[in-house]
Amino acid sequence: MIFRQLFEPQSSAYTYLIACEETGAAALIDPVLETVERDLDLLSDLGLSLEYTIETHIHADHVTGADRLRDETGSKVAVPEKSRARNVDLPVREGEPIHVGTLSLHPLYTPGHTADHHCYLLEAPCSARLFTGDALLIEGCGRTDFQNGDAETLYRSVHEKLFSLPDDTLVYPGHDYQQRRVSSIGQEKARNPRLGGGKTLQEFIAIMAALNLPNPKMMDVAVPANLECGDVA
Ligand code: FE
Repeated sequence: MIFRQLFEPQSSAYTYLIACEETGAAALIDPVLETVERDLDLLSDLGLSLEYTIETHIHADHVTGADRLRDETGSKVAVPEKSRARNVDLPVREGEPIHVGTLSLHPLYTPGHTADHHCYLLEAPCSARLFTGDALLIEGCGRTDFQNGDAETLYRSVHEKLFSLPDDTLVYPGHDYQQRRVSSIGQEKARNPRLGGGKTLQEFIAIMAALNLPNPKMMDVAVPANLECGDVA
């Protein structure tokens, strides 16, 4: 398997490249419009063909590069069906794996940050990798105060769907504001100050209610653009 973790500094967003070495088939999870050229250069340097772009959810803080990448490479745009985004090639549903050459990504429906949110589990021979989007961040989690977010729902998603995975499952988040790169389910279960260490549902609800965050600067632009898969023309 070929794997790269890519960073976009304005939104502190991670994009993940996964590719099958045998077939050269590649996918980008959560590509960002501003870094499409970087992604195209990387695909060409590695001799890969982009089969899918895959969204974890409709982002409020950046515009997806999915539509531009489709225009440039003929890739298919995969977006959670529950987002009701338009011009989607592959509506993502839990229980329907996405095949990238010999690799399979398993969507896990994990609402709470947004109502459409999915994580993706990649089972590799050495250890599994979980792309957690904004459901579970390293020692944190995505906010739950807009886009039909809900703290109780997020707590249940993380505890029931993610914390039930093996402890050595690697956690690759959608963002990190301190450029931390990777964690594990065992580590987040033990140490995540919002969701781990035995935090109860009531404690989590109180933590999230007290955050009082301003809306993301790009929200009014990003959400409508992402509902068109990033077609901002
Ligand atoms: Fe988000």
